[in-house]
Amino acid sequence: MKRLLYGICFVAFCATSCLCFSQENDQNAKNEEGKEIVKIEKDLPSGGKILFQKVGQEAAFATLDVDGKKVEIDAFEPISRFPEEARPIVEEVWNQLGEIPKKTIKVEIDVTEAPDAEEWAERAKSRVLYWYPKVVAMLDGEEAVDKIPEDFTIKLIFKDMDGVAYAAGRSITVSSRYIKRNPLDFGLVVHETTHVAQAYPRVRETWAMEGETDYIRYFVTEARSKNHWRVDPERSKYTDSYGITASYYDWIVRNVDADFIKKIHGVFRSRGSVEKFVVEEYGKSCQELWDEFIKSLDNQTRQN
Ligand SMILES: [Zn+2]
Repeated sequence: MKRLLYGICFVAFCATSCLCFSQENDQNAKNEEGKEIVKIEKDLPSGGKILFQKVGQEAAFATLDVDGKKVEIDAFEPISRFPEEARPIVEEVWNQLGEIPKKTIKVEIDVTEAPDAEEWAERAKSRVLYWYPKVVAMLDGEEAVDKIPEDFTIKLIFKDMDGVAYAAGRSITVSSRYIKRNPLDFGLVVHETTHVAQAYPRVRETWAMEGETDYIRYFVTEARSKNHWRVDPERSKYTDSYGITASYYDWIVRNVDADFIKKIHGVFRSRGSVEKFVVEEYGKSCQELWDEFIKSLDNQTRQN
């Protein structure tokens, strides 16, 4: 996997970051990672059907089935993507599933230096509008969402530059060159939106921060994707950052502490050290937990 470095924050990217989904047959089943899948099916007045599915706490989407033709639309897409007859139903179900952001922030797009990026920028905007309040809720709790100022604005700037993207304060700068080559990599938008929500002071353990950022990207917002990074039991390290560290965090969340991400978020906010925090909180070092994680991978391979 290739990695590009750029500016303040660099984004790990993957050529196949589109969201694929696996069809489950039973209601409220669990996926392979133990995340609950909620399904709601509705009939359309003209005879078609819509199947709404929510995986885990965060990733929801609808499959529109009209005349045998299936179209999949994510909850972060504007409601105008649905045919008119479906919109009231979609609104009702998204409300029921908690998929309508309860706080509307503002997103400004600047494509003056890359006019070609406009269409992509609009699709990125709908993701920022959807994910920003959700990521704030995940990291700081629902009360923090209520406290987002009315005029809170995130700027999405597109430039013809090297690298992928970076976030600084409330602005996200994306390489128009990169998105031309990787038009499906909307995950980078979630990654950078997460940085805006993190709003950390200076971070020394950047590997630990990028792991948290990619945990939210890969294991929450792309929960139904199989696009998780491969950990090499021989060569990977917990400090490898991005998807590798995110996979390690996922194991910690599932096996050690479900609140791990929230807790390390607090550590970053107070300029603390994740390495120190882990020892104090769990009585084991990051390395010891990593060794347990790798051991669990070995066991999985043997079972398979
Ligand atoms: Zn980053």
